[in-house]
Amino acid sequence: AFDVLVIGGGPAGAAAAVYAARKGIRTGVAAERFGGQVLDTLAIENFISVPYTEGPKLAAALEQHVKDYSVDVMNLQRAEKLVPGKDMIEVQLANGATLKSKTVILSTGARWRQMNVPGEEQYRNKGVAYCPHCDGPLFKGKRVAVVGGGNSGVEAAIDLAGIVKHVTLIEFDSQLRADEVLQRKLRSLPNVRIIVSAQTTEVLGDGGKVTGLVYKDRAGGDTHRLELEGVFVQIGLLPNTEWLKGTVALSARGEIEVDAHGRTSVPGVFAAGDATTVPYKQIVIAMGEGSKAALSAFDHLIRTSAP
Ligand code: FAD
Repeated sequence: AFDVLVIGGGPAGAAAAVYAARKGIRTGVAAERFGGQVLDTLAIENFISVPYTEGPKLAAALEQHVKDYSVDVMNLQRAEKLVPGKDMIEVQLANGATLKSKTVILSTGARWRQMNVPGEEQYRNKGVAYCPHCDGPLFKGKRVAVVGGGNSGVEAAIDLAGIVKHVTLIEFDSQLRADEVLQRKLRSLPNVRIIVSAQTTEVLGDGGKVTGLVYKDRAGGDTHRLELEGVFVQIGLLPNTEWLKGTVALSARGEIEVDAHGRTSVPGVFAAGDATTVPYKQIVIAMGEGSKAALSAFDHLIRTSAP
């Protein structure tokens, strides 16, 4: 049995594992894919103190740092069920095994909802982007579209308008769904065009990078083509918490509810990173939260465990 069992091996999980292991307690990490979203990222320019790195390189460094300690790393393992108990918490894996631990840190991250249109996957990281805080500066002076007119889409469009040459916001519905104050701000910007009732049907490219986007006017039925260099998809971030429904308290959006210490609604179960209600989904934030959850788990252990 473990003292601390971390579920998820992204930045949050890796940080939690290092912090737990450094307390000299039995630490394990079970991850479906060690590295997490970082593996799908190319340039990373906001990992503070490292001006430039690339996702796969950072993912390898995360794994190496964890393996420098005596951590039981179980990669390619998917957790399917959390069973709280008085002294021991159980985690059931897809392979049929059950892991037991005194505390558990949930750090299963999230995934961006995709449009599922031709060109989206092909041009991912080649003009198709999901994170304006991360990739906005790469499009300085260029033309971009933001797909999605909810709060995140409109916030992204406002943010990008200050960096890029021109932003086209594309919303499927007949009106934007963002808060009125954000819509007002967006409409005041000179280099933004808003198109509603528009369904994005294809991302165009030249084989190497994005060159445009095709959308269908849902009212008239015509198809239109926009020439641009970037497409930011902002149609939702889905936390990987489906397996926790009914066990730990989740927000309406499915995020694990945590307090300032990273505690969930279940004693002994902590959470960190993109899977939680903590705002702004970023690598440095996930790492800080993962470290915090491990320190909270340690604090829980010294208060509840027999010596
Ligand atoms: P994740 O990285 O999502 O890791 C989750 C982990 O949990 C993975 O190991 C996954 O396999 C595992 N997992 C999921 N479900 C289960 C399960 N049921 N059982 C076991 N394991 C499970 N942030 C920045 O700060 N800078 C950037 O430049 C940047 N660029 C980005 C570019 C892209 C394309 C994307 C997608 C994201 C980017 N981000 C960037 C965001 C950043 O990657 C995330 O904020 C960060 O990875 C979150 O870390 P996490 O550990 O919470 O979750």
